[in-house]
Amino acid sequence: MDRDELADTHGQIPPVSGTKPDIPDACCKLARVTEAYQLQGIDDELRRRYEDGDATLHELADYINDRITAVALGVIDNPPETEPGTVRAALQGEETIPATRRDDLRATVAGQLDIELLTGSYVSHETVRRHLNEHLDVSTSRGGFDTFDEFKDALEAYQRQYENGVESALERAGTKGLIDGGEFRVFSTRIQCDHCSETFRIKELLDAGGCNCQE
Ligand SMILES: [Zn+2]
Ligand SMILES: [Zn+2]
Repeated sequence: MDRDELADTHGQIPPVSGTKPDIPDACCKLARVTEAYQLQGIDDELRRRYEDGDATLHELADYINDRITAVALGVIDNPPETEPGTVRAALQGEETIPATRRDDLRATVAGQLDIELLTGSYVSHETVRRHLNEHLDVSTSRGGFDTFDEFKDALEAYQRQYENGVESALERAGTKGLIDGGEFRVFSTRIQCDHCSETFRIKELLDAGGCNCQE
């Protein structure tokens, strides 16, 4: 597709029209933005990449955001001569791109597009997770994580589930008169190192990068 055609089909994307997409029947932000940027077949693509390609949720979010960026770059007259993924990473302030290069790319794009609306269209891995889980019926509980951030997210999610479970059980028990007292708070899971018996909260263990008793 040449630039004119692209500009024509995608002329009303948010960073050009200057308005947020209004797509009332979308299941979530992911569906809303992919429709606003007229990306076709995204659901099949996400499913395929997640189930067959082993992509992580962060990679899927990057994939969508790169596609959104590509559409936006496709409609401007003087796009930077760079991969959409690099522009996206620059706009997101990723440290993999040198600061001066980030500033340059941002400046080039800023003159031609509403950057707030563009980056506001970007989806997070949490949004991808919810869309896969709740709207495409794809289970994301394979405990899959490849990066430290994803590992941390997984632990935090387990912890939240655990805290909510214990708290609501206590509340029910209180209502039924099984225990005294009404409201309780559950504190963070403690983890003990089998080797040295040191105990940690999840956050402490993550901050320390593990137990260093065997270094
Ligand atoms: Zn959805
Ligand atoms: Zn230890």
